[in-house]
Amino acid sequence: MTKVLLINTGGTIAMSEDHTTGKVSPSSANPIHQQSNLFQNLAEITVVDLFNLPSPHMNEEKMLALSQYIQEEAGRFDGIVVTHGTDTLEETAYFLELTLDLVIPVVLTGAMRSSNEIGADGLANLRSSILVAAAPESRGKGVIVVMNEEIHAATYVTKTHTTNLATFQTPTFGPIGLISKNQVLYFQNIIRQEYYPLQAVKQKVALLKAFSGMDGSLIRAVGQAGFKGLILEGLGAGNMPPETVQAIEELIEQGLPVIMVSRAFNGVTEDVYDYRGGGKQLRQAGVIFAQGLSGVKARLKLLVLLNTEQKVDIEAAFTLT
Ligand code: ASP
Repeated sequence: MTKVLLINTGGTIAMSEDHTTGKVSPSSANPIHQQSNLFQNLAEITVVDLFNLPSPHMNEEKMLALSQYIQEEAGRFDGIVVTHGTDTLEETAYFLELTLDLVIPVVLTGAMRSSNEIGADGLANLRSSILVAAAPESRGKGVIVVMNEEIHAATYVTKTHTTNLATFQTPTFGPIGLISKNQVLYFQNIIRQEYYPLQAVKQKVALLKAFSGMDGSLIRAVGQAGFKGLILEGLGAGNMPPETVQAIEELIEQGLPVIMVSRAFNGVTEDVYDYRGGGKQLRQAGVIFAQGLSGVKARLKLLVLLNTEQKVDIEAAFTLT
């Protein structure tokens, strides 16, 4: 029988609601333990509690510990499911995508409603994820996110709604597959998969969102605070307010990579405009344009590129083609 490793890390899927106060918090008995027993007909499931964290408590060190744990255990299983809080699920998923080199599927899932709330989605998401992790078609697809009967590539998926069950979406590119009752169906191929071996995270990367009237003070603070790279969530196709330009140039002169993504929800960045702060001039100054990644994903990618022992060309790594 297909063997699936279920790794719990916490999040709402592992929590319960206090019906008198309405507070949602971790429960003493993890509800996933009872639930995973329901699916022994789908796969032989081994359950491990690695963490029990709300996902805002995740950080790069814990992501690396999870990645290393999966790498060590992967040889004994046909697929892996990781349960995770939804707030930072897309970040952990992408970190794993960048740092794991596996043929077996690694599936991340969570829940928007805790185990005893009306319409709780954790059980259905867990079932779908086990189906996906056990499906031979899922091999070679890297790290994927399964929520609300959809399958998304870790690289582009994002949480789009604070509470709605259909919160996980892939802007611009769409989901790569879906779960229909008992079937796992893929309808898109992933064209690019990357792997960067990582032993430790020492160099940190900052992320700033552009706003009208922004000046260079926050950008200078990034250099002063010891960050080794900066992601700018710029305006539109990749432009910045003119008062930020000098500070951006100073960071680049200091040797920090500065990566441009867009604060727009859809589309890719491109150096189109030739005015002070426009993409053309920023690119000439050395800003690297990342295509298709969100700010939080680009931050993790630069962090992995700066910390990997492999030699990398940062600009080439951020180009989609
Ligand atoms: N705040 C929760 C978390 O990310 C939300 C969730 O799991 O859905 O841990």
